[in-house]
Amino acid sequence: MNKNIYQFLDVQRIDPPKRSVEERRIEFKEIYDPMPGVQLKGQADRCLDCGNPYCEWQCPVHNYIPQWLELANEGRVIEAAELMHKTNSLPEVCGRVCPQDRLCEGACTLNDGFGAVTIGSIEKQMVDEAFKQGWRPDLSGVTQRQERVAVIGAGPAGLACADVLARNGVKAVVYDRYPEIGGLLTYGIPPFKLDKAVMTLRREIFTDMGIEFKLGVEVGKDISFADLEASYDAVFLALGTYKALDGKLKGLNADGVYPALPFLIGNTQRLMAHEPMSQYPLIDVKDESVVVLGGGDTAMDCVRTSIRQGAKSVVCAYRRDEGNMPGSRKEVQNAREEGVVFEFNLQPLEIVTDETGKVSGVKMVRTELGPADDEGRRRPQAVAESEFLMPATAVIIAFGYQPNPPEWLQQHKVELSNWGTVLATGDTEFAMQTSNPKIFAGGDMVRGADLVVTAIAEGRDAAEGILDYFDRL
Ligand code: FAD
Ligand code: SF4
Repeated sequence: MNKNIYQFLDVQRIDPPKRSVEERRIEFKEIYDPMPGVQLKGQADRCLDCGNPYCEWQCPVHNYIPQWLELANEGRVIEAAELMHKTNSLPEVCGRVCPQDRLCEGACTLNDGFGAVTIGSIEKQMVDEAFKQGWRPDLSGVTQRQERVAVIGAGPAGLACADVLARNGVKAVVYDRYPEIGGLLTYGIPPFKLDKAVMTLRREIFTDMGIEFKLGVEVGKDISFADLEASYDAVFLALGTYKALDGKLKGLNADGVYPALPFLIGNTQRLMAHEPMSQYPLIDVKDESVVVLGGGDTAMDCVRTSIRQGAKSVVCAYRRDEGNMPGSRKEVQNAREEGVVFEFNLQPLEIVTDETGKVSGVKMVRTELGPADDEGRRRPQAVAESEFLMPATAVIIAFGYQPNPPEWLQQHKVELSNWGTVLATGDTEFAMQTSNPKIFAGGDMVRGADLVVTAIAEGRDAAEGILDYFDRL
């Protein structure tokens, strides 16, 4: 097919259609509908196919983006899905939840004034369509090997590792303490960003590929790590990071103050088929005046969940300005459309309660940005005499997460960094290998809380490292 490389001059970037705000405010369904076929082809055709695809380099799994955009333009759905799976274990998930404005689309040459190609939406839609047409990964030509690997954690890092191992004939047995696979994809990211049916289908696909899941099994409690290490040829650790930061605010124990993840999990569980986990009861903020503290993806998910639960008002308070918010721009815009009010340059000082011990507000001080910290981000500094009380009847804390490595790791000679991440990207012989040669690690527990796509990239790298390790034995 002859390509018109000036297509982008005639065809503007158009995002997939969104459901109406009225619907979005009350339902937990994904907010984007698929693009009509003609629109998808036209959007894919906007790709310039530049000789040096920056999008590919900015994508942590280095997807073959221009090539599959061309296949999308030509309507070759199955071939596009095949190609996407050569570099990515969960392309339909990444198309939905990657912060594309900071990754592939942020690097698109057309992002300079013309509007980046809608890479993420096309990725999602092509894979969804391929599945709908019955396409499944074909492992019929794979020769089975003798080795078996225990994967601990069924989040994106663990799943990606198991996927690459299965495609290379290695038996992967994935352990997770939760009753469903997905990690934070299932028990974190709400269904209006990632429908739970996406992971249900993935579980079927991975199971058909020969991956075995042992769910509802907490390693270190229901089964010892020593048993796993002794009975498998290698172990991949992908336990994530779950120690919630709380800013050590006074008043955290007040009635009406909630940590973000239990709030999100409690809400998600009632929308899922399985028996709810009793440690995450539903937290309902209907009719409450909600203040969410934080500015990342977790905070965005909490404000939008609060809207859908029927909160009277929802405010997101963040200590830097909008340009320095870590949350995806797209999700901030979606939250605004749904009625969330953003208050920037505010530092919470204390949670204030009424005489019954119920939260009544958050004492705040205004901030201005000072010099940059070690990571180059400007530090917020308090403005003198600017304190005030922001009224609230519910406060959700979404300050982020720190590593919480289990104690048994060090007993098994797995070295940690000073702040608790597993060391697996250093001087070891094989990719993602820890200081114990038989144990590999990846995802948030190695990087610190990060992204789905970086966890996938490390899970895949670790599988390659494990295969090289087996070849050397
Ligand atoms: P996880 O996804 O955390 O998976 C770890 C798994 O290990 C869990 O299933 C856990 O149950 C299991 N586990 C832990 N300990 C044990 C044990 N002892 N025995 C058995 N199993 C165990 N990233 C994005 O790119 N886009 C987003 O929109 C986005 N939104 C987010 C929203 C929220 C609310 C949060 C909290 C994070 C979000 N992230 C987002 C970040 C992203 O979800 C994580 O970076 C990613 O899931 C990390 O993957 P992982 O596999 O390392 O860990
Ligand atoms: Fe973009 Fe994420 Fe897809 Fe890579 S995986 S192309 S960063 S949406």
